Amino acid sequence: SIVDDLPMPWFGLDIGGTLTKLVYFEPTDTDEFIDPETERLVAKTIHNYLVSNKAYGEAGVRDVYLQLNNVNINARTGVIHFIRFPTERMPYFIQLVKSKGFAQMSSTVCATGGGAIKYSKDAEQELGIQFYKADELESLIKGIEFVAANNPDECFYYDNPLDEEKCRKFIWRWSSARCSSTDEERKDEHVKDGLQYPYVVCNIGSGVSVLVVRGKSQFERASGSSIGGGFFAGLCCMLCKCETFEEAIELAARGDNKNVDKLVRDIYGGDYDSVGLPGDTVAASFGKCCASDREKIRVEDLARSALVTTCNNIGSIALNVAISHGIDRIVFVGNFLRVNPIASRHLAHAMNFWSKGTKKALFLSHEGYFGAVGCLDKLVD
Ligand code: ADP
Repeated sequence: SIVDDLPMPWFGLDIGGTLTKLVYFEPTDTDEFIDPETERLVAKTIHNYLVSNKAYGEAGVRDVYLQLNNVNINARTGVIHFIRFPTERMPYFIQLVKSKGFAQMSSTVCATGGGAIKYSKDAEQELGIQFYKADELESLIKGIEFVAANNPDECFYYDNPLDEEKCRKFIWRWSSARCSSTDEERKDEHVKDGLQYPYVVCNIGSGVSVLVVRGKSQFERASGSSIGGGFFAGLCCMLCKCETFEEAIELAARGDNKNVDKLVRDIYGGDYDSVGLPGDTVAASFGKCCASDREKIRVEDLARSALVTTCNNIGSIALNVAISHGIDRIVFVGNFLRVNPIASRHLAHAMNFWSKGTKKALFLSHEGYFGAVGCLDKLVD
């Protein structure tokens, strides 16, 4: 097996346009193996730094609640840890790795995302580390399928997503997925390796990619958009003076996009019945910003409108792909959905409403980490 040549510990690195995601596979079965002395020493050194801390430098964060225990990767058992930091801090993190002496230890770093190309020279020159490079979309799909297969509670959906009282989150058992209303239709879909095909993946990172997945390693990028997480964060920075993504989300949660967007009812006085457009549909995003009474628009309303505009645009693209390929399940991932239930619920509603209940939005709890997990594919496969 190729694994014999790839020394522990194993790192998966996804260097994206905004965030760098790092996953660390920490073996917990060290004792049984041939060269436990060095491996244990290396594991201990890394453990003492990575696993004993939740924050690294100024901007590195470990998402402790996402940690996956008892995972098997190629005959090894261990824990997967999830860490992220802003990609603009990459040079700083390269120095951090250098100063902690991690670079001298033999280890395997699988890397994906644009930064795997952009920073490979620095990693080599500064750290003497060579990345095992992988394609980011391939890694994304592999990561989704690996995590879904290893974590039965990974996947969920919303019932009554926009109803404050009735909204409920339910676990979707991907491997034995059941949806009472459409069980009949499901009979035709084939189940392979416990995972159901086909499905659409909508990855909302800085930008957006929409993929159609028909089977193992069988996918195509069907669509995409530049109106994604970067667009939302950028508008909030410039229009609302937000310093962080979290601040932008909190602001949006307090805002009302009806003060900013022109709705169908603002134009028609009610529903546009003949084409089936409800009055509360956004007809023109930011359409009220050039009206004479725009002074009453608050920054929180602008943030909310930026969020709704982004979601509506992404939702429309994702649904188009699902409809044109005749696929019923759309899996939304990417860090735009981090700490952002408003966006998830909005997308869930949009998929259900605009497809008359035939399409379903699914969400995954490891949101933005699938590329980093999936680029460990040399080990996972
Ligand atoms: P990429 O690989 O392009 O960096 P991600 O899936 O990591 O994509 O998502 C990046 C997006 O996630 C940002 O554009 C922003 O909307 C959102 N986001 C969530 N949390 C953060 C954060 N802590 N810092 C910056 N952006 C964040």
